[in-house]
This record gives sequence, C-alpha cells and structure tokens, in this order.
Amino acid sequence: MAKIFCIANQKGGVGKTTTTVNLAAGLAKVGQRVLMIDLDPQGNATMGSGIDKRQLEMTVYDVLLESASVAEARVTAEKCGYDVIGANRELAGAEVEMVALDRREKRLRTALAAVGAEYDFILIDCPPSLSLLTLNGLCAAHGVIVPMQCEYFALEGLTDLVNTIKQVHANLNKNLQIIGLLRVMFDPRITLQQQVSEQLKAHFGDKVFDTVIPRNVRLAEAPSYGLPGVIFDPSARGSQAFVAFAKELVEKMPPASAFAQPAPPIPEPVDLTAAAQQGTDDV
Ligand code: ADP
Ligand code: MG
Repeated sequence: MAKIFCIANQKGGVGKTTTTVNLAAGLAKVGQRVLMIDLDPQGNATMGSGIDKRQLEMTVYDVLLESASVAEARVTAEKCGYDVIGANRELAGAEVEMVALDRREKRLRTALAAVGAEYDFILIDCPPSLSLLTLNGLCAAHGVIVPMQCEYFALEGLTDLVNTIKQVHANLNKNLQIIGLLRVMFDPRITLQQQVSEQLKAHFGDKVFDTVIPRNVRLAEAPSYGLPGVIFDPSARGSQAFVAFAKELVEKMPPASAFAQPAPPIPEPVDLTAAAQQGTDDV
C-alpha cells in the first residue's frame, strides 16, 4: 500500500512544487513506485514533470468531479520515472463546483483508494492556500511534509498550518499526521536562517528532517526544461540533497500499514516568532 503524503504550506513560493517533483524523482531513483498529484491550478508540478498541462485530456479536476478515475487520468512522466495526475487552470473551477456536492472534502481520498496497491508513495502538491483543494489533499493523505524557508515569517505561517492540520485530524481524517518539516532554500551563511533552524529543531525535534535542501540555482533552472532538478542535473548540490531526502524518507518511514491507523492528536502549536524575534538582535 502506498504512503500518501501532502506537500503543503499555505504560503506561495516556499518550495512546495520543487520539493514535490524532486522528491518524486528522487524516490523513483531509489526504486520506489511513485504517483505525483498536482492539486494546484497553476499546474507547475505538471509542467515541471515534462507534461504539457494544456494538452492533457484528463486532469485531477476530472478525478475530483468523478468524471474520470485515477487510472484514466494518470499519465507517465517518462524521463522522470513516476506517474502524474496533472492540473491546469480548469482546476480553479473545481473549488466552486464542488461546494454543492456531497463528500466534497473526500473526493480525492475515495479516488486514490483504487490505486493504493500500485504505488509505494503518492505525493500531492498542494496550492498556496488552505482551500477546498488543499482540504482534499489533507483528507486523502496519511501525512504532511512541510517545506519551509528558515525565515521569520515562515514561523508565523507554520502556526496557522499546524492549526489546520490539527483541525483536519480532529474532524475529517484521524490518520493524518505531520511527517516532518523540510528546511529548503537554505543558506548557512545567513545567521538568522541558522537561528530559525535551531528553533525548529528545539521545538519539533525529530519532526525536522535531517536533510537540508540548499539554495541552488540548478533547481530553479530545471522547470524551464520540463524536468525536476534531480533528473536535469543529478550532480548539482540541490539535486543530491533531494536524493538524500528521498533516502531518508524511505529509511525512516514505517510500513504503510502503520499509517492506516488513527494517529495521535496534533499538539497545540506554539508561537515561535517571539523567540525568533529576540534572535534577530544580534544579526
Ligand atoms: P511553491 O510551490 O511553494 O510556490 P516553488 O517550488 O514553485 O514554490 O518555488 C518557488 C521558486 O523558488 C521557484 O522559482 C523555484 O524554482 C525556486 N526554488 C525552490 N527551491 C529552490 C532552491 N532550493 N534553490 C533555489 N531556488 C529554489
Ligand atoms: Mg507550487
């Protein structure tokens, strides 16, 4: 059975899509069977996997509205080594169209049940909002991977995100847990980033992944070639970090059966910004 993880953070531009496509490619590289789902109407994860979002006959929109099954809507990203359910602008309409439907938060969850046995990992790239689309991702998932930059405002956003995950766990998806925080676009020369990183570790402990993704221009260049960095330039530091992250995930994660059970309640989020603010004085 697949482990189903959302890559979520309600902030835009924090590295969700970069994490999703590179983790998918990294997992494929180490022999895992991966399905990547693009839940963002911008379709960046689709394009970044070499699939033209404008040419797609069926997308995650059809899956959510139940006019296509996952098996019908998926395509293979040949060069990347994983399957994709793509998205394009049409998906923005799904939000409105689904409001009147029953089980509107559980549409993706229901659809994925049919293919769980075919994959080791299903990764869901979420949009930068806490919308009905993101809710579908959170209801379908066993856990959440949170990419974050080690910056002051990121800590503020983290409190909101943890609250949302807590509510989804309490009301809609008992299995949901925080898999971990991934430090991305990291620049060790910046003192504040180190301080925020320390704060994350102090508060979240082993929920902070050991692997750190550095800021690396090759990761930013890769999407224009329709490839994850991991495939575009395997020797780049950023690409190697994502392969290391894929390995860390494979090694650390218990079998999928462990995720198919209720997870403990999510602890009340603590406001980490006050402590970080003190830290800025000596930068
Ligand atoms: P999101 O999906 O959260 O909006 P993206 O993954 O699209 O964020 O990343 C935002 C921008 O930052 C993109 O231009 C991307 O190429 C760039 N980027 C992401 N991660 C890195 C990194 N580790 N190093 C350099 N640039 C990065
Ligand atoms: Mg994105």
